[in-house]
Amino acid sequence: MTSIIDGNAVAADIREELADSVATLKDAGVTPRLATVLMNDKQASETYVSMKQRDCEEIGIAAEDVRIDSDAPAEELFDTVAELNAREDVHGILVQDPTPDHVPDERVLSAVDPAKDVDGFHPENVGKLVAGNARFKPCTPHGIQKLLESEGVDTEGKEVVVVGRSNIVGKPLANLLVQKGAGGNATVTVCHSRTDDLAAHTRRADVVVAAAGVTELVDGSMLSEGTVVVDVGINRVDADTEKGYELVGDVEFESAKEKASAITPVPGGVGPMTRAMLLYNTVKAAGEQTGVDVTL
Ligand code: NDP
Repeated sequence: MTSIIDGNAVAADIREELADSVATLKDAGVTPRLATVLMNDKQASETYVSMKQRDCEEIGIAAEDVRIDSDAPAEELFDTVAELNAREDVHGILVQDPTPDHVPDERVLSAVDPAKDVDGFHPENVGKLVAGNARFKPCTPHGIQKLLESEGVDTEGKEVVVVGRSNIVGKPLANLLVQKGAGGNATVTVCHSRTDDLAAHTRRADVVVAAAGVTELVDGSMLSEGTVVVDVGINRVDADTEKGYELVGDVEFESAKEKASAITPVPGGVGPMTRAMLLYNTVKAAGEQTGVDVTL
């Protein structure tokens, strides 16, 4: 029997634990606060930001919704982030991607105080993660680690193939999986669009993580019996639904399910975990900045 990994359920458990940590912070007089900064007009970004705001409020984290006109000069964004960095009542800051073309990405990543960088994308935090001393694990890779843990998948000594080498998913995940200790100790291969014969790699994997943004790139013929499959992809495909589309992963679910011992669905797999781990990082940030033990 293939286990369908229920990301919604695992995320709900994590949120429940985090609500206890938020209560601990509040007992100590601290209300954890996340500021999201949105500087684009894209509907998808607007949706992501409002979901993050709602998630925070549900477990008692204060959420501040900062909007900057997409035509505004870049300095307006950097001044806003500097003000948030300086505020003691703001523990986490997240600049929603993408920012407009006239705002240099590199500067955005470096602008947020590393202690408040709940996305974990500041160069200092990337360096700490690579060195095996992560301050904030980026949300999607961390969520994947938690999902594997919840499923009882021990990555020690396993062959893990990560399909995708982005800075937000593939690279940080590969770095986490090769670290010494729990949740790591794996032998990791990172594949990308220039990889020759992707299937040769996925077929010898114990765990395949698909994070390419290509609809149903990985199918059952590319997997061995018993592989654990984690599908990160979120691709919109036209469909006869109310919204006119449906969400499909990077894995062809039906054929992959026939081979996998465990598999995440899309939606309801990695997505909810990414959202939960942002809350985790915000609670962690609040604990560290105020000296309150939040026992995560
Ligand atoms: P990017 O577009 O930044 O990176 C995609 C990566 O996949 C690149 O490294 C690219 O290679 C590689 N790739 C593309 N095509 C192929 C191919 N045919 N074979 C092998 N590798 C390929 O995407 P992200 O990492 O940001 O996101 C990946 C997917 O995950 C998207 O669908 C995104 O929506 C989803 N996502 C889901 C999240 C969640 O919470 N569930 C969170 C974040 C993302 P190259 O580097 O050579 O171009």
